[in-house]
Amino acid sequence: MCPAITADLEVRRAYEADASGLRMVPDAVARPSDESEVVEVLRRATVDRRPVTVAGAQSSTTGASITDRGILLSMRGCDRLVDIDPSARTARVQAGALVSDVKRAASEFGLTWAPDPTSEAESTVGGAVACNASGPRTLWYGPTRAHVRGLRVAFADGRVLDLRRSGLEKNTAGYLAAQDPVDWFIGSEGTLGIVLEAELTLVPRPTAVIGLAVPFATECAALMFVAAARDAGALAPRCIEYFDADAVAIALSADHSRLGVGEGASMVYAEQAVESTGTRDGVLDAWLALADTRQAYVDAIQVFEGEAALTRARAMRHAVPATMNERGARARATGGRKVSTDWAVPYHRLTATLAAVREMAADAGVPPAVTYGHAGNGHPHQNYIAGDAAELERIEGVVERTLRHVVAEGGTIAAEHGIGKLKRRWLGLQLSPMQLDVMRALKRELDPSGLLAPGNIL
Ligand SMILES: Cc1cc2nc3c(=O)[nH]c(=O)nc-3n(C[C@H](O)[C@H](O)[C@H](O)COP(=O)(O)OP(=O)(O)OC[C@H]3O[C@@H](n4cnc5c(N)ncnc54)[C@H](O)[C@@H]3O)c2cc1C
Repeated sequence: MCPAITADLEVRRAYEADASGLRMVPDAVARPSDESEVVEVLRRATVDRRPVTVAGAQSSTTGASITDRGILLSMRGCDRLVDIDPSARTARVQAGALVSDVKRAASEFGLTWAPDPTSEAESTVGGAVACNASGPRTLWYGPTRAHVRGLRVAFADGRVLDLRRSGLEKNTAGYLAAQDPVDWFIGSEGTLGIVLEAELTLVPRPTAVIGLAVPFATECAALMFVAAARDAGALAPRCIEYFDADAVAIALSADHSRLGVGEGASMVYAEQAVESTGTRDGVLDAWLALADTRQAYVDAIQVFEGEAALTRARAMRHAVPATMNERGARARATGGRKVSTDWAVPYHRLTATLAAVREMAADAGVPPAVTYGHAGNGHPHQNYIAGDAAELERIEGVVERTLRHVVAEGGTIAAEHGIGKLKRRWLGLQLSPMQLDVMRALKRELDPSGLLAPGNIL
């Protein structure tokens, strides 16, 4: 057997779960520590016709990084930050490096890698690339795709290829879909190849940032404020996040502070970069003025400035999915689990869509979802906790109706967590048979034996 592969049951069990609530014990686990070992694992697997599912830090919410078919290939041992070039503003890193480690290293040069999944301390660059991850600040910077310049990938048979974006400003050579192979792998969830290394584009860290937590009496008022903030030409938010009343309750207990308004309030958290004290005062005044016209509890607005306060705000945000994951894990004992959505609609349709979706859950007798997230992008997360199998079925029925409605509103069924295994059955709600056939053709071309990440996406 290849030295990096083990069939030890204890090791296999250590890789049976991700954040989806599913459990799948792989037949074997491979833990390579360098590229040559990854290649060897793939060559052997191809000869033996064994499927290979690659995993980063296994924070997937969709079951994409677990498998009960063949080898689970963990890239966590390949986590070297190969090189940072501050003058070119690029970083070359191995796929198993944590996103937060890349950011920390870049910050020493006054730079950052912009993608900011709230799970950045527990997810890898390979996972971010494979899911086209995003986060609160995607509103300003765009998703992972916009910050990847090149990839070194291994195909299922062990061939290795370096791919680099051309940087061309004009190009009419062939179909768009074929022009930049780097894009094939971003969002491919381990189904087309293994990302070995990534060349990342870095951006300057803003000199100062101001954050505001703005409470509202109702969800509708809060979401109308979000849309108004996006439309206000005078504002340039780098994130606009929403917390419904249940999410506020979770976020505050993690932060041990108070919003200063009664229970049941919703909250919007926004951040904007400011370059000088003069700009800072103008930016703050503009946000307060908008809040005032949108029925916010203006006297209870909290302002976050400085690294420590902004980190505290980020921890408050992260507490919500982390707590909901814990609740979901507890529900497993009675046959339930967390069911999370990451649909998105054009931001000006969010208020009406969320109202319609909440009604669907109420009609089905399903407990309300804790709802929070990237409202500025029209992209909330809804977390339901199913207490048992019967409730799980009812919740999944509500989610399917939700996704049909979202697609009819011009939205997407998956804005940042990918499709994985859990959302595969709903992909056809959004993509036509022709689009799915084009994806299958690409999969056949790059992975002709169908060995990579079986059950993900297609
Ligand atoms: C509390 C919590 C908060 C989260 N918040 C966010 C958020 O704000 N934004 C967001 O986008 N996501 C979020 N997620 C989801 C998840 O963290 C992201 O999808 C993350 O990018 C996955 O990275 P990972 O290293 O954990 O990958 P894994 O979960 O291990 O794998 C995810 C997918 O990537 C593939 N993959 C992993 N490594 C490679 C590689 N080297 N080559 C090819 N394919 C590979 C796997 O096969 C799988 O399909 C959150 C999850 C949790 C638990």
